[in-house]
Amino acid sequence: MTYGLRMGRKFPKITVDLEKCTVPFLCKRCLQECPMGVFHVTRVMAKEERLKEMDPRIDGNYILYATRRDKCTACNICIDVCPIDAIKIEVPKQESAKPKVEGEQWGQ
Ligand code: SF4
Ligand code: SF4
Repeated sequence: MTYGLRMGRKFPKITVDLEKCTVPFLCKRCLQECPMGVFHVTRVMAKEERLKEMDPRIDGNYILYATRRDKCTACNICIDVCPIDAIKIEVPKQESAKPKVEGEQWGQ
């Protein structure tokens, strides 16, 4: 008799096109509308500039990341609200949650 192990949930793959979304703070729609708080904005900076203030309205100073991919429910709200079609989500096929049982069954 063999049992298949329960596999962990595979998270959606979220891709943000950073050539389209260059100033996320000017829009913020995905950040505001995502019910799971998946997105995060972080500074882009050289090590020696880490204490310098950076204007969030300037192109390329901050970029959008999908940091909590594990929370994503693939509701597609972020895709719907993005005005420039910068977000793509791929949902991987999930493994079955039920253990597979092969061979002799109990009671037989
Ligand atoms: S699909 Fe839904 S849960 Fe996932 S990142 Fe977009 S808005 Fe958030
Ligand atoms: S909704 Fe689109 S354009 Fe707006 S911040 Fe998010 S990815 Fe960028």
